[in-house]
Amino acid sequence: MKRPSLFTPLDPENFGSEAGDEKRVYQKQNKNPVLKGGDLTGFTIEEAGHALRSGAVNVRDLVSDCLSVIHERDRDIHAFLDVYEDALREAEEKDAILRDAPETSPLFGIPIALKDNILVEGKRATAGSKILENYTAGFDATVVRKLKEAGAIIIGKTNLDEFAMGSSTENSAFGPTKNPCDESRVPGGSSGGSAAAVATGMALGALGSDTGGSIRQPASFCGVVGMKPTYGRVSRHGLIAMASSLDQIGPFAKTVRDAEIMFSAIAGGDEFDATSVHHSYEEAEKSFALRGLRIGVPKEYFREGLDPAIASRIGELLKLLEKEGVVAKEISLPHSSYALPAYYIVVPSEVSANLARFDGIRYGVPDREEENLFEMYSKTRARGFGPEVKRRIILGTYALSAGYYDAYYVKAQKVRREIASDFESAFRDVDIVIGPTTPTPAFRFGEKTGDPVSMYLADIYTVAVNLAGLPGISLPVGTVPAEGGKKLPFGMQMISPWFDEKTLFGAARGIERILASSPS
Ligand code: GLN
Repeated sequence: MKRPSLFTPLDPENFGSEAGDEKRVYQKQNKNPVLKGGDLTGFTIEEAGHALRSGAVNVRDLVSDCLSVIHERDRDIHAFLDVYEDALREAEEKDAILRDAPETSPLFGIPIALKDNILVEGKRATAGSKILENYTAGFDATVVRKLKEAGAIIIGKTNLDEFAMGSSTENSAFGPTKNPCDESRVPGGSSGGSAAAVATGMALGALGSDTGGSIRQPASFCGVVGMKPTYGRVSRHGLIAMASSLDQIGPFAKTVRDAEIMFSAIAGGDEFDATSVHHSYEEAEKSFALRGLRIGVPKEYFREGLDPAIASRIGELLKLLEKEGVVAKEISLPHSSYALPAYYIVVPSEVSANLARFDGIRYGVPDREEENLFEMYSKTRARGFGPEVKRRIILGTYALSAGYYDAYYVKAQKVRREIASDFESAFRDVDIVIGPTTPTPAFRFGEKTGDPVSMYLADIYTVAVNLAGLPGISLPVGTVPAEGGKKLPFGMQMISPWFDEKTLFGAARGIERILASSPS
C-alpha cells in the first residue's frame, strides 16, 4: 500500500478541485513541530476521506498510524484516559465494506477521539472525576450514534477537567494533559485532551464540550480549530451535564472544513433533548466570498489584560481582510465586563443541581462503611469530588438558597439577557463578530491553580458566547515565541448570529485561505 507523503502533491483527480488550497493550509499547520510529516496522521479529515474512498490508503493503516502516535507520545502528553485498541479490528471491517461498495460519508473510516464526558455504550465514562472512575455507559450519546452511523471510528476517550470545570485540565482527577507545543504548559481546558489529540495527530478530529469556552480556549492554546455550535443545534443527550443551559458539544479539527464536516454529522434535533432544534444545516459554499462581509470588532475586547502580540496580529489580519473587500468596523458590546461574573453565578447554580445525582446510589461508588444515609452521601461526595467541583457546588447552593436567589441567580439571569441583547443589536449591523479567543497563549502548569479567579479570566472572551447561546469558532492565527525556540499558538474567535453556522464556517474558511497565503 502506497502511503502518500504530505509533501508530495496529491493527485488532484482524486482529491477534488480544492486540493491545492487545502494542501497549503495543511502544510502551514505542519510547520508546527508537533506533527510528524509523512505519516497518515497528518492528513486532514477531508484528505483522508478522499484517499480512503479512492483506495489510495486503507482504514487500517490510518487507524494504526494514529495508535502508533498515541503509543509513542501519550505517555508524555496524556491526552487520553482510555484508548480503544479494538479500533483496529473495526478498521478492518470498514476496509472490507469499502472494498465491496463505494462509500460517500466524509467520516467513513476516520479516527475520532471523544472527550470523556460523552457516553459510548459499554465503555467507561469518567468525566475526569474519581467519583465516576468505574462507571460504564449504558447507551451511546446521540452524537456518538450519529458519528457511528457516519462510519467514524471512535479511537478513545480524552482527558478533561473534572466535570468540564476548568481551563487547563489541571482539575482532572487522573492528572493533567500537557500542551504538545510546549510540555511545560497547559493545553487549555476543559477539553484539553481532545485539543492535544488533534494537534499531535493521535486522532484526525475530536469532540469536546463547551460551557464557557472549553472547546475554543484549548483549540487556541494547541493551535487547532475548535467550534461551539448554537445552543440547541447539537443534542446534549449522553453528555454528562455541567450547566445544562450553556453546554454544547462541538468539534476540534485541523481545518475549518474538517470542523464543518464533523458539525454537519452531529447537528440536528433529537427527541431525547427537548432543547435541541430541528433545523437543517446547509453547508457553506466552498469559496465563500469575503468581499462585502461586515465584520464587527468589539472595542471592549481590546483592553488591558490582552497580550499585545495577539492584539497586533488580529489588527494585521483585519487589514489583510479589508484588502479583500471585508468591511470591518468597531462595535460595542457594553455588558462585556459583566459576562464572567454572571457566568460564575449561573454555572455553579446549575452545577449544584446537576451534580446532586452523584450520591453513591444513583451514580458513584458509595462509602460502604457508613450506616447512616446522610453520612454515606457526604463521605461519598467528599471523597469523590475534587476541590473545584466542591467550590462550585457550595457557591451554587448558596446562590440558589431562598434568601439569596433574587440577589444572585435572578440578577445573573437578567445580566445574561442584556448580554444577548448586546449581540442582537450588533448583528443588526454586522455579519460576524471577531476578537481574540484568549487573552494570552498557553500558561505554565501551576501558574493559576492557586487563584481560581485568575484561572476564570482565561475565558473572558468566550463565556459571553455561551450566555447568549451563540455559535463561535476559534481559528489558529498566529504564534508567540517562547523559551527554547518554541512557538505558542493562539486563536482568533469568530461569532455569528444564532443558527447561522453557514456564515461562520464560510467566513472562517475564507480567512483560513488568506492565512495560508500570509503566514505570521
Ligand atoms: N473554563 C470554564 C469553566 O471552568 C469553561 C468550562 C467549559 O466550557 N466546560 O467553567
